[in-house]
Amino acid sequence: MADDCIFCKIANGQIPVPLVYQDERVAAFRDINPQAPTHILLVPRAHVTGVPALTDADGPLLAALLTTAAALARQEGIAESGYRLVINAGPDAGQTVDHLHVHLLGGRALGWPPG
Ligand code: 5GP
Ligand code: ZN
Repeated sequence: MADDCIFCKIANGQIPVPLVYQDERVAAFRDINPQAPTHILLVPRAHVTGVPALTDADGPLLAALLTTAAALARQEGIAESGYRLVINAGPDAGQTVDHLHVHLLGGRALGWPPG
C-alpha cells in the first residue's frame, strides 16, 4: 500500500466507498464520475502504478482483474449487450490515478475510435 494513493485507500477500506466486489487480490467500485450507465473501476488491492510497471509475475493478478470484470458485466446485465475494458497508461491516454485500474464501461453504445 502506498501513502497518499487514493485507490490504495479505497481498496483497503481506509476511505469508505461501497465496493461492488472484493477478494484478497482485487477490489471494484463505481467511478465517481461515470462515463456510461455502468462504469466500474477494478483495482489490485496491492499498489501497482500502472501497465508499465507490470511483470510476468503479475499474470495471475491480471487474469483475476479480467475474469472479475466479466463476472461484474454479467451482474450488471451488460454481458450480452457488450462492454468495454479500458486501461489508460500515461498522459496521452489520460491516466490520472497512478494505481492500476481497469475501467468497465457499458450500458450504452460506445463510440470507436475512442476520443
Ligand atoms: P484514469 O483517468 O486514471 O484512467 O481514471 C481514473 C478514474 O478514477 C476517473 O474515471 C475518475 O473519475 C475516477 N476517480 C478518481 N478519484 C476517484 C474517487 O475518489 N472515487 C471514485 N469512485 N472514483 C475516482
Ligand atoms: Zn495505490
